[in-house]
Amino acid sequence: MKVSIVGGGITGCATAYYLSLDGHDVTLFERDSLASHASGFALGGIIPHFGAPPDDPYESLSRYSIGLHRDLAVQLYGGSGDGLSANFNRKPSLMLVEDVADAAAMERVYRSYADDHTLDIRWLSHGELSHIDARVSPSILGGLYFGDAYEVDPYMLTLALWQAAERHGARLVNREVREVAVIGSRVSGVVTSDGLTGADSVVVASGPWTGGFLAELDIAAPVTPLRGQIIRLDAPGPPLKVSLWWDTDYATSKRDGLLWAGTTEEEVGFDDSVTDAARDRIIGSLVRMLPYLEDADLVKQTACLRPMTPDRAPIIDAEPGPDGLVISTGGGRQGILLGPAMGRAAAALATGVESSVDISAFSLARFQ
Ligand SMILES: Cc1cc2nc3c(=O)[nH]c(=O)nc-3n(C[C@H](O)[C@H](O)[C@H](O)COP(=O)(O)OP(=O)(O)OC[C@H]3O[C@@H](n4cnc5c(N)ncnc54)[C@H](O)[C@@H]3O)c2cc1C
Repeated sequence: MKVSIVGGGITGCATAYYLSLDGHDVTLFERDSLASHASGFALGGIIPHFGAPPDDPYESLSRYSIGLHRDLAVQLYGGSGDGLSANFNRKPSLMLVEDVADAAAMERVYRSYADDHTLDIRWLSHGELSHIDARVSPSILGGLYFGDAYEVDPYMLTLALWQAAERHGARLVNREVREVAVIGSRVSGVVTSDGLTGADSVVVASGPWTGGFLAELDIAAPVTPLRGQIIRLDAPGPPLKVSLWWDTDYATSKRDGLLWAGTTEEEVGFDDSVTDAARDRIIGSLVRMLPYLEDADLVKQTACLRPMTPDRAPIIDAEPGPDGLVISTGGGRQGILLGPAMGRAAAALATGVESSVDISAFSLARFQ
């Protein structure tokens, strides 16, 4: 089948990868450059969703996608077969808590997983966690440890997905898609400044821009940009062995040798510039948790826009609009984790085969 994809972030590139692997004729349209928005600037934490009932659709999608990440580690980088590779590293995470009520809630979560031996989850008191890193502030009561967490370089992953798609025949067109062309009740392709490119199916994976784009087709998709900022520091001492998380913030040592810390959740439309206020807030929060970083040097600050839906879950759907139109967006704060699953499910919808993961909970209709 001939499939056009709008958007060269992780969702669009993963869709292109799975479609081209199955022998479809794929053209991906990106108006800027590949991974030049959130998919190139995210933190890249791959941390399993937890705390929901076992049959929770988001949790199932999250686990399925982590399985795909493990497969990709071998398929894209020739990993060793243990599901890890140069760009899919095991990086345990530690969710820190400062207050007694939060500590009790975390301990309850931990106990709810006590019989699930498939996940390495432990509750650590402050004394225990200081064996992992003694530099954590004494004000921290303890933390929830996840052994089965991972980290990727999202830019490298998105490009690797695209390069593999290209090796299987996919084409990149560096143009903005102005509209989806429709004949009767079916899509017929996409229109750019070069005119019409015909297609049997069109996958819209244009991140936070998806809502505006679909409005042209009279489809109301509640996807909005949520800005997030990250700072990168040249930190003294050895790197952090685990990634640390608290409230909406985090800190981790990345492969570039820098300590990355974030983040913000800002509703500022499509403004993706960095601000001094965000820098100061992130540093304040970071130094509260890791006082030794007070004198660390700021090397870089970035900002990008998450595609966010009102319930923070993605939209993966082919029901609304003309036949042949597929929407895959709304990865929110976990769009890198969910990217492979969102791409694989979109590829299935575009070609009319059954998705290997249940995506019925991610329809657009849930908002109407
Ligand atoms: C600070 C921050 C940290 C993050 N950390 C993590 C993390 O640790 N783990 C995690 O899982 N997720 C994380 N995320 C979330 C993740 O980055 C996003 O959810 C994900 O990258 C979204 O990917 P996407 O492909 O859907 O959209 P995007 O990456 O936004 O890609 C969409 C692409 O579509 C293109 N486009 C739009 N309209 C058109 C058009 N009309 N024609 C052609 N091209 C078009 C755009 O140029 C863009 O390149 C983070 C996000 C932020 C902001």
